[in-house]
Formats: sequence, structure tokens, C-alpha cells
Amino acid sequence: LVSRKWRVRPTVLDLGDGVRIGEGSLTLAAGPCSIESEKQMELIMQHLVDNDVRIMRGGVFKPRSSPYAFRGLGMEGLKDFHRMARERGIKIVTEVMQVSQVEEMHDYVDVFQVGARNTQNFNLLDALGGVDKPVMIKRGISGTIEELLSSAEYVFSGGNEKLILCERGIRTFETASRNTLDLNAVPILKEKTHLPVIVDPSHGIGIREYVPTMALAGVMAGADGIIYEAHEKPEEAASDGAQTLNFQESERLIRNLRKVYALR
Ligand code: PEP
Ligand code: MN
Repeated sequence: LVSRKWRVRPTVLDLGDGVRIGEGSLTLAAGPCSIESEKQMELIMQHLVDNDVRIMRGGVFKPRSSPYAFRGLGMEGLKDFHRMARERGIKIVTEVMQVSQVEEMHDYVDVFQVGARNTQNFNLLDALGGVDKPVMIKRGISGTIEELLSSAEYVFSGGNEKLILCERGIRTFETASRNTLDLNAVPILKEKTHLPVIVDPSHGIGIREYVPTMALAGVMAGADGIIYEAHEKPEEAASDGAQTLNFQESERLIRNLRKVYALR
């Protein structure tokens, strides 16, 4: 069902208020790895509004490698996130980690994110097949393109056709970067499926200095959008600071992404 053989026309998702994801426009989503405080959200939302970016990312349930790391503000944080975003006309994408969260999060998200560690959580995918909100599925940490498509097939066949695929890097033998952003996946996915394809260069390379370059490369490779981490003070971020852009870097990137998209 997610194949071009089933549907030739590219899928375009309408989040409302003129925010669309899919062919015909460049989707930009930025924000912190973790939602940390109201003050932080206020600063980041202002940065997004100033740059006409309509979607904010940010986790309130964080899958951390260590159980002692910051694991997110949970539902209380999500409710604040949602309220503040609504007041500013911003849409939100945030990670859902387990089936029981789907229902409680539902009214407070615009796009459910399935994280790389949950790409093959088939119970979660089944549950998301039953909701009427868009779902962005990240590629698994060691997942193949075919496996990503199969995960999407779970949600689609469950009745939810509002899907976005996200290339966020895979684990390889390379240690010079956090992950290996597989830009090959972009043209391959665009050919194989009608779904929008978004690139996450932050997790893809994991090194702040190189995030803009890989973001621009993602657009040139044919991505429908870019999702990246930005924070008012990356060095103080509760998670993923090393791959997070400050506002100056973020603003410059947004400008360049729009230029590069226009060249395509
Ligand atoms: C994130 O988006 O902050 C995140 C945890 O992503 P991933 O699942 O790709 O590691
Ligand atoms: Mn992160």
C-alpha cells in the first residue's frame, strides 16, 4: 500500500492552517531534542516564528541509552508544549514510545514520531494504524530501507494513511560520526513509495558543524523536508547538545535550505 505501484501520485499531508508535508513544498521542522521548560519553548518558538518555520520538534518521552539520563517532561510537558504552540500557530512533532501513550498524547500532537528504537515495535505501529493523526516513522538504527517500508505498511494497512518516512542515519562500522546518514535512501524511497521523505541530519551525523552541510545534501538528494535539532544554548541542552544548532546557525541553515530547494 505504501508502494508507488499502489498509488502513483505522491501523498501530501495537510496539518491544517496551511501547513503541508509532501511534494510541492519544503517542510522544515526544528526544535530541541528534549522539551525542557516553558522558557526554552518560548525562545525556540519565537525563533521559528521569526523564520517562518511552522513545525516544532521536541521530545517529552525520551528514549535514552542510559536510564540515568534526562528522560523527558512527560504529559505535563506535552500539554504546555501544545498550548504554547497553538498560541503561535506552530504544529508539533513529538515521539510516542509505547502503545499506552497513543491515546493520552493524541489530542496534544500534530505528528506522532516513532523513534529509531521503536521502528519495529509492531504493537505500537498497529496502535498508530488506528489514529487519525500523521505518523513520522524513523528508520531503525540498523534497519534496512525495506524494513522501514514494512513498518510504514503496518500503519497504512491498519487504516492510517498519513505517513512520513524519516532517514536519520544507520549504525555502520564508521566511528567518526554518530551514525551514517544514508542519503542513498532518499532517492530510493522517493522512487519506491508515494510517501513524503524527510531527512534528520542531526541524528544522521551527530556533529553540529556538519549538520547544515548534510541537511543541504538531503534536500539536493530529493527530500521533502528536513527535521533538525536547535536550541538557544546547545551546550546546555538536556540531550543531544553536540548535534544541536544554535539560533544563528539555524537561521543561516533555513535560508540556505530554501535557496537550495528553489534550485531543484
Ligand atoms: C530524537 O528525535 O530526538 C530521537 C531520539 O531520534 P531517533 O529515534 O532517530 O534516535
Ligand atoms: Mn535527539
